[in-house]
Amino acid sequence: MSQRDNPASEPTDFIRTLIRDDLVAGKNDGRVVTRFPPEPNGYLHIGHAKSICLNFGIAGEFPGAVCHLRFDDTNPSTEDPEYVESIQRDIRWLGFDWEERRFFASDYFEIFYRHAVYLIERGLAYVCSLSEEEIRAYRGTVTEAGRNSPDRDRPVAENLDLLERMRAGEFADGTYTVRAKIDMASANMKMRDPLLYRIRHVDHYRTGDAWPIYPMYDFAHCLSDEQEGITHSLCTLEFENNRDIYDWVLDHVQTTYRPVQIEFARLNISFTVLSKRKLLELVQGGYVEGWDDPRMPTLSGYRRRGYTPEAIRAFCDRIGVAKSNSTVDVAQLEHAIRDDLNPKVKRVLTVLDPLRVVIVNYPEEGEEALEAPYFPHDVPGDETRPLPFSRELWIERTDFAEDPPKGFHRLAPGREVRLRYAYFIRCEEVVKDPETGEVVELRCTYDPATRGGAAPDGRKVKGTIHWVSAHHAQGIEVRLYDRLFTIERPDLAEEDFKAYLNPHSLVVHDRAKAEPSLATAEPGERFQFERHGYFYLEPESTTDERRVFNRIVSLRDSWAKKTAAPQATERTSKEERKPPTAPAPPVERVWSDEQRAALERYRRAFGLPDGIAEVLTAEPIAGRLFERAIAAHDAPLPIANWIVNEALRVVKERGEEDLPFGGAEIGELVARIEDSTLSGRAAKEVFAAMAAGEGRPDAIIETKGLGQIADEGTLGKVVDEVLAAHPKEVAEYRAGKTALFGFFIGQVMQKTGGAANPALTRALLERALSPS
Ligand code: ATP
Ligand code: MG
Repeated sequence: MSQRDNPASEPTDFIRTLIRDDLVAGKNDGRVVTRFPPEPNGYLHIGHAKSICLNFGIAGEFPGAVCHLRFDDTNPSTEDPEYVESIQRDIRWLGFDWEERRFFASDYFEIFYRHAVYLIERGLAYVCSLSEEEIRAYRGTVTEAGRNSPDRDRPVAENLDLLERMRAGEFADGTYTVRAKIDMASANMKMRDPLLYRIRHVDHYRTGDAWPIYPMYDFAHCLSDEQEGITHSLCTLEFENNRDIYDWVLDHVQTTYRPVQIEFARLNISFTVLSKRKLLELVQGGYVEGWDDPRMPTLSGYRRRGYTPEAIRAFCDRIGVAKSNSTVDVAQLEHAIRDDLNPKVKRVLTVLDPLRVVIVNYPEEGEEALEAPYFPHDVPGDETRPLPFSRELWIERTDFAEDPPKGFHRLAPGREVRLRYAYFIRCEEVVKDPETGEVVELRCTYDPATRGGAAPDGRKVKGTIHWVSAHHAQGIEVRLYDRLFTIERPDLAEEDFKAYLNPHSLVVHDRAKAEPSLATAEPGERFQFERHGYFYLEPESTTDERRVFNRIVSLRDSWAKKTAAPQATERTSKEERKPPTAPAPPVERVWSDEQRAALERYRRAFGLPDGIAEVLTAEPIAGRLFERAIAAHDAPLPIANWIVNEALRVVKERGEEDLPFGGAEIGELVARIEDSTLSGRAAKEVFAAMAAGEGRPDAIIETKGLGQIADEGTLGKVVDEVLAAHPKEVAEYRAGKTALFGFFIGQVMQKTGGAANPALTRALLERALSPS
């Protein structure tokens, strides 16, 4: 169950908790301002949806809170107004509105520039003439300090002059950069004099040729947040190390207040890629029709495929927001769209690959209307429609087998089946093309006494198949979409990820037949085609002559499961491909009472997303690890995430007996992440060591030196030492030179080799420096 459906529990995650705490503490005068900052260099994908739902969602939940839409357009070479338009369209489609709060980072170019001048004037930034390659070489490594640029001590006046001339366009691309003067020995490599500006003689889609220099992300983003009064700047985990630059810049320029950067886990989904660069490669290489190809994980792709915004929002709610990266099974997204459509859409009969059936004992010109409900008994709605029946019908080719294998319960020579909502029919004769040997027609008899689908003499048939009256049928085109890639993690593929494109991701049936009620369907309408899945009459592709239905998603469990579904023939991966005559029934989980209780408990007591709760229920080892882990540390969602996404992989590789860690260790690991003594990245390293049998997390953190110093006693001592060593700076700070704050942070970091917890360092420094 999604948290949104449950009024008793508001969405809770560490970000919302933090915002609530800030409000209680009276921070930011009670303002909550978030922003969604896309770069207009591609279309939005499902990962962006997570960020949109989070940022705009928060704005909708807290009184007075707002969310800005900010185009982060500081990199002119890849940006385009087409993307600005598509991004706005997609956010609106998803159901969110920025109202008048639309901003462009490119509107702040002048402001950024003034901040750069300010930093240079104070000796906190310099113009550097090293090439990009040299800068990299000078940066050092994780274990080795970097070297200072020869230009690091360039006099202020000279720096100012060069910056002015850079702006005037006097220099070629790459000749100079502007860099912050921070610390070439910082443990955080990002802090080794990061670039603030570079020269690019490229026209910008909004500012034209006004600027030959462009600010770097690390400079522009924090300043944009400050400019707009953002209070909580939410970004994905890969920016964790950039937070130090974010803070440094804001500590050293003139600001009115302080936004805070908070990182959350990026969404990855199995069987697809979510990088704009890779998606662009698919578009440009013609591997897909465009950004909105229904197989693309873009919002415009989902829209064209027939997904609803409600389903995508529900999915984002269910996966939640946590601090460690994970890959979400695409099945969870499919689950969300089925949940959304199941109670809403009509069920209709269609035949994708038609085979003619002639009912030889039915009158030549005869015809009758059978009554069929649009909704099954477990879905509210009692509308019905007339279903014409006549002598010639279409059935699905895969519903007939001349030589039926064991377990095949549908039509075969001499066998009787039920036609859904109609009669029992028996196959009397098989007509073949004399040249090809292909079956072209089945001659059958029907039993008039079985009208409605039951025999008065109580005889049973094992199979029920769907059909359409040939004379009344509507010709339609049906496009069956499947996963775009054949492997779970194409994003991690070592070779070219395009090598794993699924050649069967689109199968077109352009001679499909539909019952006549579909003739009045409006473009944009959705249906369930019984036994085939959920479909969408796609407005973009539909014309007067051609009505195109996209398969949104296949069925999890159809009424056809008793007879075996035809859909397995369209599966494409090698292991799944079976001869068309013996399709495998769709997988359906049958829970025991005990499992059902466990599932309920995972969902309700712990508020776990459905997909995760199901894995914990289905994999006993996962459930056991979970119980022990939460006994050790009470953080159900992140713990469940680690178990489902990381621990189960190790279980699969090593087997349960040889598992080198238990639930308690997972609890311990998550506790370290949650109390901020371990960064997300270091946690991965610790987990890898746990999986390699190197011991408990705390011991690994200790021996490998991966931890952060977050205990007040230890860090407090370092802070005191730093202040004692710099009395002059302390006095200046207290006299109002608050820009020195970053200097103190830097000193603490240096003294601890970068291991000090940044938030605690800041808090301790603030306390120690406040006028006594
Ligand atoms: P990509 O890596 O696909 O190019 P990006 O991060 O560069 O994505 P932006 O346009 O800069 O794309 O992203 C806008 C916002 O969306 C950022 O705040 C970013 O953190 C967030 N975002 C992007 N991808 C994801 C994702 N997979 N999961 C969650 N948030 C994401
Ligand atoms: Mg980005």
